[in-house]
Amino acid sequence: MPINIISFLILLFWGIGFNYCQNANDDLLLKNVSFIDGTGTSLKRNYSILIKNGIFDTIVSTSDLNNLKTNTKIIDLDGKTIIPGIIGMHNHLHIPQFPNIGRIASKLYLASGVTTIQTCGATNPEDEISLARRIEKGEEIGPEIIPSGPFITGSGGNRNMIIPKNRKHLRDTMQYYINQGIRWFKVYRNIEPEDLEYVIDIAHDKDCKIRGHLCSVTFEEASKLGINGIEHGFNSLSDFKSDKTYGACNGSRVYIDSLNIESQEVRSLLQTMIDKKVFMTSTLSIYEASIPNRAFADPNTLPIMSPYLKELYKSRKAKMDKMINNNTREKRLKRIMRFEYLFYKMGGLLCSGVDAGRHVLPGFGDLRNYELLIEAGFKTEEAIQIMTGNGAKALDRTDIGTIEIGKRADFVILDGDLLNKSSTIRKIDVVYKKGIAYYPIKILKNLKGKYGIE
Ligand SMILES: [Zn+2]
Repeated sequence: MPINIISFLILLFWGIGFNYCQNANDDLLLKNVSFIDGTGTSLKRNYSILIKNGIFDTIVSTSDLNNLKTNTKIIDLDGKTIIPGIIGMHNHLHIPQFPNIGRIASKLYLASGVTTIQTCGATNPEDEISLARRIEKGEEIGPEIIPSGPFITGSGGNRNMIIPKNRKHLRDTMQYYINQGIRWFKVYRNIEPEDLEYVIDIAHDKDCKIRGHLCSVTFEEASKLGINGIEHGFNSLSDFKSDKTYGACNGSRVYIDSLNIESQEVRSLLQTMIDKKVFMTSTLSIYEASIPNRAFADPNTLPIMSPYLKELYKSRKAKMDKMINNNTREKRLKRIMRFEYLFYKMGGLLCSGVDAGRHVLPGFGDLRNYELLIEAGFKTEEAIQIMTGNGAKALDRTDIGTIEIGKRADFVILDGDLLNKSSTIRKIDVVYKKGIAYYPIKILKNLKGKYGIE
């Protein structure tokens, strides 16, 4: 390669980094830290945290750290709260009608403190894989992306998903993506029980995992077949439908508005999921977007939306504001919350993700989830655990998810006291990924009007 091209590329990549983040190869000492570590334990105050080579090296109460190198950068975090980088467990790189928003979405995730995502189903797995690699190499900015294979469903299901023609077709398709490095697959609402069993067998044989947005298969059936994760919780529960046929996504969903969530049957279903080590992913913010009288777009996201999406949002909001106040969806939200709360309190592994849409933006929706988890009754530390440490557990990752010695320095500095004010979650000063700082203001400035332009 000619030398002028090499220097151009160096400048280009250096430029990408320079625009958004400040490279921190130096050690970093955080002083006067109040932090929530992501394990579910109480917030700690007056700590010092030393970061070396992108890893939490030392975490001590008060600051009597000696022998600091002269090039150690010191940051005083008095009045701030730090939390681990968020692990978005249902964080697609596409939204309805817009299959190619990956590059913008990944910047929105990072700017919102989401430092790792599992995409939970891909419309274009090859694009996800290449974006994940470019981010890993530092050619683009974004969270660490753990990509997914294509959605797998059954006859009658969405046509842009894999509908197995026979066993060989299914196996060959999965093997193709496994060869590309995919380790996570998502099954969708029309999957046939026998296909689900087959998919799980192939996946587990190849050290891969299966998650499901279920309907044709009940939570209990899927748990007993060995599924790893179940999406959306209560809203896609079909276990107690009286008019459902085995293996079909049919029957009325109205029953979920009257089902007794505290009943022994529901508890024993949750216990089965827990015994079978099935995690559940909460996606409250996207459900909230369908409820009249609830704020369903963060005002800070309006400048980021394309004119087309902004118009769509305004007309939708006007329509919803005029709707006669019908409490069905509001009450259902409370029931979805209750189901998740019970699962967590019984010992279940509850994670969270945004399942972004046209008006619930990547990242911003993850942060809204926090406020909704608080509304569901979780304590601050529990909500943060659901959004961070629990995601790492579901991903079988011991290097991320919590602020503990030896873990990767992925964390978020919030401007204020999160314990006293929930909305502090949306006041992000800086996001650190692998010990490198990214500034949301700079990232978002470059995304004006870009969400939904393709
Ligand atoms: Zn989804």
